[in-house]
Amino acid sequence: MTQNIHDVIIIGSGPAGYTAAIYCARAEMKPLIITGLEPGGQLTTTNDVENFPGYPNGITGPEMMIDLENQAKRFGTEVIMDYVTEVQFHYEGNLHLVKTASQEFKTKTIIIATGASAKYLGYDYEQKYRGSGVSACATCDGFFYRGKDVVVVGGGDTAAEEATYLSKICNKVYILVRKEMRASKIMQDRVLHAANIELLEHHELHNIEGNGVVEKVTFINNQTQETREVAVDGVFIAIGHKPNTDLFAGKLATDESGYLILEGNNTATSIAGVFAAGDVADKIYRQAITAAGSGCMAALDAERYLHS
Ligand code: FAD
Repeated sequence: MTQNIHDVIIIGSGPAGYTAAIYCARAEMKPLIITGLEPGGQLTTTNDVENFPGYPNGITGPEMMIDLENQAKRFGTEVIMDYVTEVQFHYEGNLHLVKTASQEFKTKTIIIATGASAKYLGYDYEQKYRGSGVSACATCDGFFYRGKDVVVVGGGDTAAEEATYLSKICNKVYILVRKEMRASKIMQDRVLHAANIELLEHHELHNIEGNGVVEKVTFINNQTQETREVAVDGVFIAIGHKPNTDLFAGKLATDESGYLILEGNNTATSIAGVFAAGDVADKIYRQAITAAGSGCMAALDAERYLHS
């Protein structure tokens, strides 16, 4: 059933969504935030967050997201645990319609903060060690592997970038590439010039073993079927991310990978009154602090739009 008209609905409850909510609530916009199936977003899947300013001793991802939720609620944000199934832009003049499985809402503005999901290979052994040595973010977790040996899986720019980043922190980095490296020339050059990176083309991950945490991996050469076992502490899966934008396919401008395209130097999407923040529109930085920063920007842009 359609209820009263909202000033702003925020879709997604990661750092971008909650930061937008804090700003909208303090601007008297009475935000409604719809959490989605992962309340708190990606950070709820990690233990230590050591790079978010303001936590000198670090904090766990779930604790940090509870802090953000409480801060948003303190100023009057309404939080509902539901999942958006459809959005009809300009449903009635300048009003948009947001539908969940059980409810629908009319709103003057929308902030999309649905994030992105790292792609994984899909093996049981990979799932078993996620958060215990298997990661999809070198910037986030690389520091925990300083001086150690790690593996990066992937052959594109993301993998080359992650491997180069890790080579400055870790003792040794193996890169497993299923076929041949397809990263840009400049990224490949960086990989080839790093003394502690061993590039293994035509190699795939065959197994991960350990006692609660990653201790060793087995690679397989997919041309010769030869296997090799090496002791490592970390496995970084770098095969790309998928922005959570299926909901908006054909309705909002996206790039070839599905990331929302923002208009000009702000958070406006291709539809008036609809703004985007966080990883859903950012394939470069993908950090909690950048998501939070753009959540702030989206809230200020939505407020300005409402009063224009
Ligand atoms: P997300 O956190 O991805 O949240 C997206 C939200 O959208 C979720 O709440 C989801 O439920 C919701 N949603 C999706 N679809 C719908 C829908 N249809 N309806 C309603 N809601 C929907 N960054 C750091 O800065 N430091 C770290 O140490 C760090 N560690 C990380 C560790 C791991 C394992 C991972 C995966 C990421 C890590 N990151 C870290 C990256 C950081 O988590 C992301 O950059 C950040 O969470 C992005 O925030 P976001 O708000 O854009 O989206």
